[in-house]
Amino acid sequence: MTLSHTLGYPRIGANRELKKATEAYWKGEIDRDALEKAGADLRARHWKAQRDAGLDWVTVGDFAFYDQVLNMSVLLGAVPARFGHHDGEVDLDTAFRMARGRAPTGTPAAACEMTKYFDTNYHYLVPELHADQSFGLSSERLFDEVDEAMAAGHPVKVSLLGPLTWLWLGKAKNEGLDRLSLLDAILPVYGEILTRLSEQGVEWVQLDEPALVQDLPQDWKQAFEAAYNQLQSAPVKRLVATYFGGLGDNLQLAVGLPVDGLHIDAARDPEQLPKVIDNLPAYKVLSVGAIDGRNIWRADLATLRDILADARSRLGERLWLAPSCSLLHVPVDLDAEARLDGELKSWLAFARQKLDEVVTLSHLLDEAPTSEDEARLEAANQAWESRRSSTRIHKVAVAERLKAVREADAQRPAPYAERAKAQHRVLDLPLFPTTTIGSFPQTNEIRTARRDFKVGKLGREDYEARMREEIADAVARQEALGLDLLVHGEAERNDMVEYFGELLEGFAFTQYGWVQSYGSRCVKPPIIFGDVSRPASMTVRWSEFAQAQTDKPMKGMLTGPVTILQWSFVRDDQPRETTCRQIALALRDEVADLEAAGIPAVQIDEPALREGLPLRQAQWQSYLDWAVTCFRLSASVARSETQVHTHMCYSEFNDIIDSIAALDADVITIETSRSDMELLDAFQDFQYPNEIGPGVYDIHSPNIPEVSWMVQLMEKAAERIPAERLWVNPDCGLKTRAWDEVEPALANMVEAARELRRRH
Ligand code: GLN
Ligand code: ZN
Repeated sequence: MTLSHTLGYPRIGANRELKKATEAYWKGEIDRDALEKAGADLRARHWKAQRDAGLDWVTVGDFAFYDQVLNMSVLLGAVPARFGHHDGEVDLDTAFRMARGRAPTGTPAAACEMTKYFDTNYHYLVPELHADQSFGLSSERLFDEVDEAMAAGHPVKVSLLGPLTWLWLGKAKNEGLDRLSLLDAILPVYGEILTRLSEQGVEWVQLDEPALVQDLPQDWKQAFEAAYNQLQSAPVKRLVATYFGGLGDNLQLAVGLPVDGLHIDAARDPEQLPKVIDNLPAYKVLSVGAIDGRNIWRADLATLRDILADARSRLGERLWLAPSCSLLHVPVDLDAEARLDGELKSWLAFARQKLDEVVTLSHLLDEAPTSEDEARLEAANQAWESRRSSTRIHKVAVAERLKAVREADAQRPAPYAERAKAQHRVLDLPLFPTTTIGSFPQTNEIRTARRDFKVGKLGREDYEARMREEIADAVARQEALGLDLLVHGEAERNDMVEYFGELLEGFAFTQYGWVQSYGSRCVKPPIIFGDVSRPASMTVRWSEFAQAQTDKPMKGMLTGPVTILQWSFVRDDQPRETTCRQIALALRDEVADLEAAGIPAVQIDEPALREGLPLRQAQWQSYLDWAVTCFRLSASVARSETQVHTHMCYSEFNDIIDSIAALDADVITIETSRSDMELLDAFQDFQYPNEIGPGVYDIHSPNIPEVSWMVQLMEKAAERIPAERLWVNPDCGLKTRAWDEVEPALANMVEAARELRRRH
């Protein structure tokens, strides 16, 4: 029999019950017992779903009230001193304070840093590591959950973040601290955990080590060997789980670890399967992650059966099946989607459906599939056939247009130096021109109007009139503040990707397709299911209206192709690059239309460019090449006189500066205020040729920045970049702020620019 399991299941609940419960607890609306009960109910339901689907185990240890990496830190007693924890059990509120700075009990303290988990949109809490840190088992929660699952009669497999990946994700808080130096201190705690689990009757423990799909320094590779040698004595079976890519040069290392089983990602890297089997010691189990845990497409069961038939015959009972990674990264249940049409729905599978797929596939590989398995295979075949041939997906015009793209289409009509002259003539801007990143406060009134419009309480005419009022107001305020290049304020946008997705063809939206982003926060990414095209202009009427309100130049505002791709579920039947190019061409038409409507500058936001970087450095350049080309395809239709801006919300440019320069945007605005402009060094060293707006204040803070502070920051910028090429702007958009914070902040910013003009 081919055994089936999952590395993890979404914990938020089909109706985001976990979000509602934790937020209610934080607000004091429910007590601790009620929160614990909500958690226990969700776990019970999710384990039952796994058993009902026919999995051979339920997975315990994937639940978290906030984050599974934080859970591991708590289990190890890795609580930073500022949270005032000493020995013993780390209570839930301490964990919440680590996550968000405050909780119903305990003294507030600065929250731990949060960052993206590998190449996902899931954010984890970064473990803080100190020299000579001590560790000790500090939570009973995991063991309680095991008891809970066993009491419900479930066969239990436990999932835990592995010791090396926990350290890999951590941040050294002392200069020069080698994170690996702490390994010897955490391994005994891991050993104790494994022993406790075995005493509870757990047979298998899954240790997640996705660090094994990244480029590892030599000492880290050696540490893997040593660590798992040391954990060998624990009386449980250990399955090392790798995912988010192939093992690459870590294949021998992973296959040879002294453990009882290995899980590999065969969705991202199916080619590694035969190599892994060739090298797998005869006593080891191989768990094949065949069902894509990162995307929402229905599996092609027939093809997978064929691919896996060889593995089945070579491994026999040592073959296990699973999704490629935890199902945390996909929505919970497709059945909830009442508004998706039947055809589109037949192409999809969310977490609950993926459990069925794993089980069906395992039956198909075994001798005697049931009639239900045969029916599921047939349904999957039909869905795949319809995806291959559907004219909703494949559009001749889009394919032909893509084929006709020439290199010159990704090339502005003149080099920057020439364009700049033409632009400066048209725009007539002062030295140190001021602008903003696009959005202005999304007030309650705006949100209410949008909600009323969506439910039909407000007609389209009235809604659009309301938005025009907001735009006129935003323009008037910018004029009064004395800003130089204005924006319309994005009042009409719910979200920078969803807004465009709703107006483009080839996108679908779910009602309940929520995925955890961090803590109680969830996102509902659009689904790009088909060839992308633009039936009509998307932003022109707003920008045109805004321009008509003022003599100052107006900047059009678009979300870039890479960011739209990156923040959506993307089709898996063609390369990401192809989908990105289609989006790029749709945006290209929008740029042309904005220009034709008399808009003299267009900003194409690419905040997600960097997060698209592959996990392996060797693949960076090819990604960057097509990503840059896509941006340029969107932008290069603009005449020389039209100033193209781009914006990125981060400040790490050192290692990709040549690609940033290759975008050839006339102006780039970036986040720099928190780094004291030192991040401009990368631009200086590269002799970055175009204009830069290094953010002069942090929009995440409600504090009003002082004039002298911003002047001083810009002086530092001017030491690195010639003043003629510097802009003055905030770090990012202002939609999360209130007008009474925005106006004084921008007034000071404009004053700072005036002071700079006097000085230069
Ligand atoms: N133009 C967008 C805004 O101002 C950019 C947002 C972003 O960079 N994430 O809101
Ligand atoms: Zn930003």
